[in-house]
Amino acid sequence: MNQNIAILCSGGDVSGMNPALKRFVEYAFANNLNPFFVYHGYEGLIDDRIVPAGYSDVSGIITRGGTKIGSARSERFKESSYRRVAAENLRKRGISMLVVLGGDGSFRGMEQFYKESGIAFCGIPSTIDNDINGTDYCLGVDTALGVIRNAIDQIRDTASSFRRAFVVETMGRNCGYLALVSALTSGAELCLIPEIPVDIEEYKECFASQTSSGRDYFIAVVSEALNASSTVAEWFERELGFEARVNVLGHTQRGGNPSVYDRLMAYRFVTYAIDALLAGKTDSVICYTKSHFVFRTIDEVALHPYRLDEELLSLGRGQFLPSRCQR
Ligand code: ADP
Repeated sequence: MNQNIAILCSGGDVSGMNPALKRFVEYAFANNLNPFFVYHGYEGLIDDRIVPAGYSDVSGIITRGGTKIGSARSERFKESSYRRVAAENLRKRGISMLVVLGGDGSFRGMEQFYKESGIAFCGIPSTIDNDINGTDYCLGVDTALGVIRNAIDQIRDTASSFRRAFVVETMGRNCGYLALVSALTSGAELCLIPEIPVDIEEYKECFASQTSSGRDYFIAVVSEALNASSTVAEWFERELGFEARVNVLGHTQRGGNPSVYDRLMAYRFVTYAIDALLAGKTDSVICYTKSHFVFRTIDEVALHPYRLDEELLSLGRGQFLPSRCQR
């Protein structure tokens, strides 16, 4: 008899989850598995929202952001009594394997669930923040970067027509990855992230000199972690005499048509995850490091905080430290 396998999305949604669902159904059938969807993350596991999935459920979804099966955070899943209900819901359908798209919190929850129930899982790192330890790439990041690039390119059009400073605030929780990559690739003048602490006052002389040589707009990318966008805008107005505007990109960064890279990574992550479960791996996360896929334990991804890649940081320092400011 064919084995049963389920997939769910937990925590923040990302663009790339729908391509992952499509690949999940197709690759499950290719391996003679019966695929199931769990709607609304761990909440759906508890509430028994577990349904068989077929090709028709995934047709046409590859171009869509978000996730067709919904995602959720679940306080109840943190309690063992609810996890027992969740396990029973899977058992009664003969589901012994789960693919989980989520972040380190979701994987931590799943590890606990596996220890209690014996139901195996493989995690796929999915967050636009790109802040999961042990993987260079999380599903959704490339699409989010594309959204930010479009926004900054458009802001540049208006900024250059009207003497203004624009402060663009990006997501990323405590991680400066989105802000740094976006600032580097959009030609911003200023990038403020927690990993490269600077005193904004140190830019004043350099920016003033740029202004007297003809610069008539500035673009600053500021990570949400610093909670400093308004302060930076006020600084441009007060110290440099520029009218300043703050643009908080917010949840636009989560949505949008999944990029080619995210579609491909979704396919690759899901393929590795199903292969791992079929090979008997019980509680791992499939990571992408130095252009290779590797399986890591939950402790490796969830016990340690993520640290931004040193090479990227040194590019950032070379470009954005006050001492490197081009007069
Ligand atoms: P992310 O997966 O993006 O890091 P969260 O940290 O919000 O997001 O975790 C998502 C969900 O994972 C939580 O709502 C909860 O249901 C579950 N979870 C997180 N930590 C635990 C835990 N220690 N035990 C059980 N479930 C957990």
